[in-house]
Amino acid sequence: MRSERFIRGFRRSLIGIAIALLLASLVGFFSGWLTEALLLVVSTFLALHLFALWQFGDHLSATAGSGRHSHLAAWRAIGDSIQRRQSRARRQRRRLLTTLQAYRNAATALPDAVVALDGDRRITWFNAAAQALLQLDRRRDIGSRLTDLLRSPRMLEWLASDTGEPLNDVAAPCDDEVRLSMRQIHDQRGQRLVVARDISQLQRLEQVRRDFVANVSHELRTPLTVVHGYLDMIDPEDVPDYAPILRELRSQSRRMTEIVEDLLTLSRLDASDAASNPERVALVPMLETLRREAEALSQGRHRIKVRRDSELDLSGSVKDLHSAFSNLVSNAVRYTPDGGEIVIRWSVDSDGGRLEVIDSGPGIPAHHLPRLTERFYRVSTSRSRETGGTGLGLSIVKHVLQLHDANLQIVSEMGTGSRFACVFDPARLLLPSVGGEDA
Ligand code: ADP
Repeated sequence: MRSERFIRGFRRSLIGIAIALLLASLVGFFSGWLTEALLLVVSTFLALHLFALWQFGDHLSATAGSGRHSHLAAWRAIGDSIQRRQSRARRQRRRLLTTLQAYRNAATALPDAVVALDGDRRITWFNAAAQALLQLDRRRDIGSRLTDLLRSPRMLEWLASDTGEPLNDVAAPCDDEVRLSMRQIHDQRGQRLVVARDISQLQRLEQVRRDFVANVSHELRTPLTVVHGYLDMIDPEDVPDYAPILRELRSQSRRMTEIVEDLLTLSRLDASDAASNPERVALVPMLETLRREAEALSQGRHRIKVRRDSELDLSGSVKDLHSAFSNLVSNAVRYTPDGGEIVIRWSVDSDGGRLEVIDSGPGIPAHHLPRLTERFYRVSTSRSRETGGTGLGLSIVKHVLQLHDANLQIVSEMGTGSRFACVFDPARLLLPSVGGEDA
């Protein structure tokens, strides 16, 4: 959009030329020197414009030029508009610099280490925390490749890989005790930010929490066993008046023992290493055990079907996987009303191995599904208690599966039933052993 001032200035110049030419024509016509008069006017205007052009150029090339750059309106209008643009650009640049400075100050003060790398993975900037945690030196390391400055093979491998995955629990270059969680953030021009966070404190707190739960559970185990033992020794027929109380005491002490046992299982799983001594998990005896357990729990109240659609076995911990699968089977029996059907199925597809427990129970509302594997999370507390649930079963399942690089998929429809599937990576599948080795 053209500015009003520019149009006005240009119009004034045009009117000036027109009047001068008109006057020159009149004077020239009456004096008989028309050509000379017109030539004089045109030359004068040309000289004036050349002078204005020189002034204008001089003004533009001056570093801190200000004030009038020409007395000719058209040139002045052009100059004014350039000057306005320049001062607007200056203001914008100042604003940008202030914002950039504010961002840099904030990034410098961040407790997380931040390192900016260019397309060639050379360091262009880093903050104070990066100096401390990654042992970088401002004078020495700007312009160097980050990979030339770090020693940890895990960090180097991670930096070389361009996956967006974070790197968790890696020792900091400043101190092996300091544990870092690192992320890489890329932009479209190939530049990237490497962010490292000190998670030692968080890990210590997590360890304190784990130790606390493990110790409390362990300490509770002995007194509970004693209480349970003494309660079992009292025959309700000897104290008929207290028989209902005795029954309640027994059931509650059994429940507490089960909770303590489940908490201890979770603590053990928390502390165990993923791939420690994997063994062959033969599915034939495993499915048979699950069938026996389901039938014992159900006491003939459900139709129980077991299907083995694949010959392959699994590699992992027999004890832990049995604990996970039997939790799913126990849930299916406990939550499915009498007369319902429970299917335990082992199959293999392109995703890997699937151990599924399918029931025709009441189903679980969709909004509960994402939270089911949290400790003590229950859809209905009363139903869970009634059926002897501890609220820890699916947490145990999730932990066991994590240790086996597997995941739990839950599909449930209200009024139709639920399907809990443990999905194992194809790398975990084993061809059946020739002799039909037992689990
Ligand atoms: P609980 O010991 O209470 O059964 P879990 O961790 O095993 O604890 O299960 C969490 C909750 O998920 C249960 O309280 C129950 O509400 C729901 N749930 C688990 N399995 C089923 C199932 N097969 N059908 C319906 N609800 C289920």
